[in-house]
Amino acid sequence: MSDRHMLHRQLREAGLRVTAPRLAVLEILHEHPHSTADFVTTGVRESLGAVSTQTVYDVLRACTDRGLLRRIEPAGSPVRYETRTSDNHHHLICRMCGEIIDIDCVVGEAPCLSPDRDHGYRIDEAEVIFWGACPDCRRAQAGPVS
Ligand SMILES: [Zn+2]
Ligand SMILES: [Zn+2]
Ligand SMILES: [Zn+2]
Repeated sequence: MSDRHMLHRQLREAGLRVTAPRLAVLEILHEHPHSTADFVTTGVRESLGAVSTQTVYDVLRACTDRGLLRRIEPAGSPVRYETRTSDNHHHLICRMCGEIIDIDCVVGEAPCLSPDRDHGYRIDEAEVIFWGACPDCRRAQAGPVS
């Protein structure tokens, strides 16, 4: 499903050498967006065998620094990574099960919200996370339907 050729090109264009761990991390996050470093590490080991946790963290950091990955840090949750970096999208998160869904920005460009006063700052980003309860958790909360 994910296109290795495209991943090779993305790495090279970002100035990173193509390595097996880098390809594996990008592939996993392409197929499982918003994953934690733990999840990615497990996936990398499934496809490559023994790879150190430090290696995976180094890949995540390098790819984030070069704009190939975006980090999201929802309150009370481990850091998540995704490959969808080229737009200013937001996230909808279930408070109960932690499911994360991409929400397209209505405005499209960052920052999509303006504060009342900018305090002299040049503001370039507003982080928006919508919190709620997903349909499954709402059903579970409502109890068994008789
Ligand atoms: Zn839920
Ligand atoms: Zn996302
Ligand atoms: Zn927005």
